[in-house]
Amino acid sequence: MSMILDGSPASEGIASGKVFILHWAVPVVPHETVPGGRVDDEVDRFHAARAWAKERLREVHAATEARLGLVEARIFDPQLLMLDDPAVVDGTVSYIRDNHLTAQRAFEWRMLELQAMWGRTSHPMVLDRLNDLEDLMVRVLNRLLGHHDPTALAEQREGVIVVAQNLTPSLAVHLDRDHVRGLATDHGTRTAHWAILARSMEIPAVVGLGTASQVARHGQEAILDGRIGRLVLDPDEGDRRAFEARKERLIVLEEESVAIADLPAVTLDGQPIAIRANLDLPVEAAAARAHGAEGIGLFRTEFLVVGRNALPGEEEQVEAYRKVAEAFPDSAVYIRTFDVGGDKFPMFLHMPQEENPFLGWRAIRVCLDEPELFRTQLRALLRATVYGDVRMMLPLVNDVEEVRRVRELLEEEEEGLRGKGIAFNSGYKLGVMIETPAAALDAAELARHCDFFSIGTNDLVQYTLAVDRTNTRLAKLYNPFHPAVVRLLHQVARVGRAAGIEVSVCGELASNPLGAFLLLGLDITALSMAWPSLSEIKKVVRDVRIEDARRAARRALAAATSADVTRCLVEGIGDSVDLEVFSGRWSLSLSD
Ligand code: PEP
Ligand code: MG
Repeated sequence: MSMILDGSPASEGIASGKVFILHWAVPVVPHETVPGGRVDDEVDRFHAARAWAKERLREVHAATEARLGLVEARIFDPQLLMLDDPAVVDGTVSYIRDNHLTAQRAFEWRMLELQAMWGRTSHPMVLDRLNDLEDLMVRVLNRLLGHHDPTALAEQREGVIVVAQNLTPSLAVHLDRDHVRGLATDHGTRTAHWAILARSMEIPAVVGLGTASQVARHGQEAILDGRIGRLVLDPDEGDRRAFEARKERLIVLEEESVAIADLPAVTLDGQPIAIRANLDLPVEAAAARAHGAEGIGLFRTEFLVVGRNALPGEEEQVEAYRKVAEAFPDSAVYIRTFDVGGDKFPMFLHMPQEENPFLGWRAIRVCLDEPELFRTQLRALLRATVYGDVRMMLPLVNDVEEVRRVRELLEEEEEGLRGKGIAFNSGYKLGVMIETPAAALDAAELARHCDFFSIGTNDLVQYTLAVDRTNTRLAKLYNPFHPAVVRLLHQVARVGRAAGIEVSVCGELASNPLGAFLLLGLDITALSMAWPSLSEIKKVVRDVRIEDARRAARRALAAATSADVTRCLVEGIGDSVDLEVFSGRWSLSLSD
């Protein structure tokens, strides 16, 4: 009989395939000894596991080199060296021989010992090796314990449904659609950055499944529905028929959306709305164009560095920004400077362990503290201005001082480029993301120092409501229709209008039909979203009247609760949009 697990939708699409349990954690090793006569066998088992791990690492090295280049592939070199290091090998063997420990227990002991020794230093190189050491423990211990290899994802010929407790952006950035058909996690939320990446890569995903990683078995058949947030294990005939029917329905929806890609985004009463795409990887630019994006409203450049081993050089960055700018020769391209920290960590930067990473060293704060990282990016951005209307956007700004400091750095870099005779367009625009209540409340001051605002509702909601955007348990409380959020949006829109600068929204709210309706009503006329949502939102825009949206927004602004806000919007949008089509993904906004 089939087993149905319901979670929350995180990335569109449906998929079927075999379950791949991704359990990237050091396994628990039982304390066991062997009789004296079996000691040699244990030593042999250890060497066999070591040889196997070396072989695996070489394969992964080759695959990574083919996909991402040699620099990225070198990330595996320290682990390969460690497998031959006498400190590891001789230490483990003597634990087996002297204490008659099983190979796994001896290896674990030795590695824990090295971990404790290395952990006493704060040298960054050594701290890096600690990560390698842990990765090696995951590989070798799982092998010695007879568990399936958690690293064998890239070898799956058929394409699998990955089931995990949770994922990270650095794991997700290495996934690819050839091997992974779907993602299902116990924890996580739609606004976690790995889920955002999954959407960009068009890998269907469901989060908040509770115990999926415990109840699902490796190799089990499964169907994953990323639109309604469901994982079906051991699907029966009925489930399969429903799956096929939904697949066909989605193909029709996709055809309909491509059909409206070239139509203008104008409301029934003639208000044009700029609909732009959010981009996580430069390769998405083509899909964004095909689905009718009028430019790029947010390019999350940090995915050029997250999960990567080395800072991409200036040339590589210029190339990435140029590609995106040239894909949209007649429109604006808003490129956000690195938003690392929070849940996004590049491996080459030594991010501190923090109690509250989302309230910590993140985004503009990191950039201003890391001149090599930031200046390289600013130079690349300046140089990219010759290829199109490239606009620079700063994340998590709280204070005009931060903008001033960036302007100073830009002036210095401009000077440097002039000195070298390198071309750039000095008429570029610089703007900030409004992502904190402080920035929203201080918008009038910020407006004096920048050329545009782009509201990042994903963060604005988390910081306004003090609800971690990645916490599944709090997902019900993460409500963008909270009256406080609506008032802040209104305040920013009003201030931007008064200052004569553009206000756009590039958070998830813009891709929610009811959210888009609210934003239009607040006179926000530029929306940016992941490209798979472009046509749906364009359809919403084309089916509503700006006057109705304004009336609904006025009522929403006077509402006392999130439920009242939602009601005002549902009533305001009336029959113009079939909200049922969206209700799976946006159940929160419709039922609360
Ligand atoms: C946001 O916070 O709404 C946003 C667009 O930025 P990110 O999701 O990358 O934090
Ligand atoms: Mg943000």
